[in-house]
Amino acid sequence: MKHILVTGGAGYIGSHACKALAQAGYVPVTYDNLNTGWQDAVKFGPFEQGDLMDRARLDEVFAKYEPAAVMHFAALSQVGEAMSEPGRYWANNVMGSLTLIEATVAAGCRNFVFSSTCATYGDQDNVVLNEDSAQHPLNAYGASKRAIEDILRDFQAAYGLNHVIFRYFNVAGADPEGEIGEFHRPETHLVPLMLDAIDGKRDGLTVFGTDYDTPDGTCIRDYVHVCDLVDAHILGLDWLEQGKESRVFNLGTGSGFSVMEVIEHSKAVTNRPVPYSVGPRRAGDCTKLVSGSVRAETELGWRAKRSTLETMIADAWRWHQNGHYEK
Ligand code: UDP
Repeated sequence: MKHILVTGGAGYIGSHACKALAQAGYVPVTYDNLNTGWQDAVKFGPFEQGDLMDRARLDEVFAKYEPAAVMHFAALSQVGEAMSEPGRYWANNVMGSLTLIEATVAAGCRNFVFSSTCATYGDQDNVVLNEDSAQHPLNAYGASKRAIEDILRDFQAAYGLNHVIFRYFNVAGADPEGEIGEFHRPETHLVPLMLDAIDGKRDGLTVFGTDYDTPDGTCIRDYVHVCDLVDAHILGLDWLEQGKESRVFNLGTGSGFSVMEVIEHSKAVTNRPVPYSVGPRRAGDCTKLVSGSVRAETELGWRAKRSTLETMIADAWRWHQNGHYEK
């Protein structure tokens, strides 16, 4: 069976990718420093603890498993933190990824799947965001991901490192079987924070700004179910294994929902009120991020199956009530 090296496999998206890989007949090897990941989430293949910056450790893991491909999820990914501590984002995300990419090439592995972000586009009023849109990130998170995309292009040209870049929109939901889910400490993402507020685990949700140029004044995002997202990664892996050209794909549904709309849907799904108050804008937030591309559908054959707000919130709610990890 083929091994796939999954960096960040102990994290939210990485652990769902490991489950999908195992179901598709691969052996996912999780490489994670457990700074933000959870060993409890590593359930579908071997675990190797290590840091992206640790080249010797990476070399050891590549030699041990001879992975057919790398799926690279490990990253710092919070917009607020990226604004206040940009150096950590450049160091961990860019230097860490460069170390991983160099180790990949040195090990003779030539297939690389990278999790990038719609945050690389930045705020572009009335522009349809497709893969050819200009990239003007507003924060060090998006900027660091854009830089890694550039590194991959250079390594393709120099060493033939074939890669698929996925630019995620907003990922939500959880494994419908409840084995794994979203669990960040601290939590900064809208859906889990809202479920905490509904559940009384925190005082209430703060809506970051109601003065944006949108119909209800709150930011608009394109939410995609984590299981749909990782399905695309399996298709991306197939794409590379078929020897197709390196390619960028947006992963979003093309439908945008405001923060207030997410609150309304959460009320309906959980049948409980959402305690919230209105606060100031969060630095680094874009007004609207919605995918305008169907490239993943037309070229990869990807179909989003669980990405309605109702299903995403219902799956997240089920996990939220029963699931958590311990250090
Ligand atoms: N948001 C909010 N309150 C929160 C967390 C998030 O109003 O406590 C908003 C945020 O401003 C953005 C949307 O919810 O418009 C999604 O934010 P999240 O951090 O989940 O993802 P991001 O878009 O930053 O990747």
